[in-house]
Amino acid sequence: MATIQAKHYHDEDAAWAHLEALRWPDGPVCPHCGIIGEAFKLNGKTTRKGLRKCVACREPFTATIGTIFEDSHIPLHKWLLAIHLMCSSKKGISAHQLWRNLWDVDPISGKQRGSYRTAWFMAHRIRWALGQEPMASKLAGIVEVDDTYVGGKQRLRAGPGRTGPQHSAWQAARTIRESSRCSRPSARR
Ligand SMILES: [Zn+2]
Repeated sequence: MATIQAKHYHDEDAAWAHLEALRWPDGPVCPHCGIIGEAFKLNGKTTRKGLRKCVACREPFTATIGTIFEDSHIPLHKWLLAIHLMCSSKKGISAHQLWRNLWDVDPISGKQRGSYRTAWFMAHRIRWALGQEPMASKLAGIVEVDDTYVGGKQRLRAGPGRTGPQHSAWQAARTIRESSRCSRPSARR
């Protein structure tokens, strides 16, 4: 589980740097006029994170524009961690489990931080995104997921039991496909 320790899952600045590097490998792309690498960063105290201004058209934008993170008040590193958790979990992850994995327990009150509602909303929006292009066509038709079994007892089983792990992976892919039929959640959080 070394990847889960990655800085962009726990630190907001690192999360923004990660998203910007993924979206803009050749420098910031203005979503208004399309010019590449011609925007400067706005660093005011009250300026929202990652805000840039295009030199050509003078319009502001961030790397989250047009993504499921746009207009969200949930920190970006929580979004990235949620995606990682949902995509790396072979049998799927419940909103309740996501909630417990994304936030810790307040040491004073003993209460779980974050909220189930927020975790549910995130899971819903991430599943919706997985049903959009270019992800949707990657899970079209017959989906084959490579898998391995580590352990000694599996070979003792005969018949259908041996296909257990493959079935789980297929089940995960199918679950994503079925969930993707729902519409994009519109409520902002
Ligand atoms: Zn522009």
